Amino acid sequence: MNCQLLMLRLGEITLKGRNRARFEKAVLSHVKSVLEAFPKARITKDYGRIYIELCGEPAGELIPPLKKVFGITAIVPVAAAPSELEAIQQAALDFIGSLSLEKETAFKVNSRRVWKEFPYSSQEMNKLVSSPLLQQFSALKVDVNHPELELRVEVRQERTLLYSLIIPGAGGFPLGTNGKAMLLLSGGIDSPVAGWSAMRRGLEIECVHFHSYPFTSRKAEEKVIELAKVLSGYSGTIKLHLVPFTDIQTAFTGVGQDNLIITFMRRAMLRIATRLAEASGALAIVTGESLGQVASQTLPSMNVIGRATELPLLRPLVMMDKDDIISLSQQIGTYELSILPYEDCCTLFIPKSPSTNPNLRIVQKVEQHVERLDEMIELAVQNTVTLNLTPHAQIRYEEEGGPEEASELPRHDLELPLDGQAIREDWF
Ligand code: ATP
Ligand code: MG
Repeated sequence: MNCQLLMLRLGEITLKGRNRARFEKAVLSHVKSVLEAFPKARITKDYGRIYIELCGEPAGELIPPLKKVFGITAIVPVAAAPSELEAIQQAALDFIGSLSLEKETAFKVNSRRVWKEFPYSSQEMNKLVSSPLLQQFSALKVDVNHPELELRVEVRQERTLLYSLIIPGAGGFPLGTNGKAMLLLSGGIDSPVAGWSAMRRGLEIECVHFHSYPFTSRKAEEKVIELAKVLSGYSGTIKLHLVPFTDIQTAFTGVGQDNLIITFMRRAMLRIATRLAEASGALAIVTGESLGQVASQTLPSMNVIGRATELPLLRPLVMMDKDDIISLSQQIGTYELSILPYEDCCTLFIPKSPSTNPNLRIVQKVEQHVERLDEMIELAVQNTVTLNLTPHAQIRYEEEGGPEEASELPRHDLELPLDGQAIREDWF
């Protein structure tokens, strides 16, 4: 298509009154980071819109990363012409010509005279632009009510914009404009979607994953890293905190309350995530829970689990159907990874009949009797390994003494010693 610039429409953010400048700045800086890979492209800004002058960069390559920028509602490939009648008519001919229409196409021209000094009205422009097009392209048939192709002509003082294709953007609020939250990221279908939904609402996300090496394998950890990398495609970078959870999990298996084990584990996860949140300035915890989906997601379970933290618990999927969650995960690119069969720390420890109605007082009492629980939680926080992830870059560990190459650090090479069922029988 004949396109010199991309027009980015900023949606919901225009509603936010005083915050608008801040929001526009956030989108702008996100767009700038996307454009680092396209050095010839230049950015200009206008009321409620951002323009990217392509200057020879390929529109087709810019559009996919721009579709991941939150706060942009539409991406519009635009041809520009000087605001003079003949130049506009010629640009319209070139524009339609570049579409190589073969079959009959219902079409209309929709002009808008933004620059009131321009000598022709919008109505007149519709005729003046469409007449030469109809002469030149026999495939075009006018249909003002149901056009398949609508050529929009926006006459502005500086230049006239011509476009027809409007590509939906990611929408939502720009990255980080609503603060920061910790996402509990498992290897399942739900939590990556919850993370994406939270990011789309303007939250900056850091991910926390609990692993139970050697009961969970290196593959399971790699799967979570890959999922976090997909999420980083929506933010540029993302932090993933890998928390060693084996000792805590094993401690709970010894207390003789097998049906409550998931409740204990979730509460411990929340306590650790809260500590990590405090350290990084996050003001909420996001989970992939959905009401009624499993025993730990009944309302009584959520109530007892949620009391382990004082931070707000955000559950973007709480009222969603699984089918809709799956379809979102397909759209955002996490589904194929999520369905890989590697075990999660919790699935290995699922009791035969997990409680759907835990009692808070009993849960708290049992926790008090778990030896060294506070100490183990502290230790898990201290031994957390943090990765800084980008969609394609090498994995780097962030530890004391600065980042190092992942390959220099000990990795979990051991495979799971027993299959999940055997472990369950052993432990319960
Ligand atoms: P998901 O598909 O996200 O795993 P789920 O429906 O399987 O969700 P659960 O396994 O009960 O639900 O987990 C509920 C939530 O707890 C998850 O959505 C996730 O936010 C969090 N969670 C579970 N396991 C882990 C883990 N190993 N590390 C981090 N967070 C976890
Ligand atoms: Mg799960």
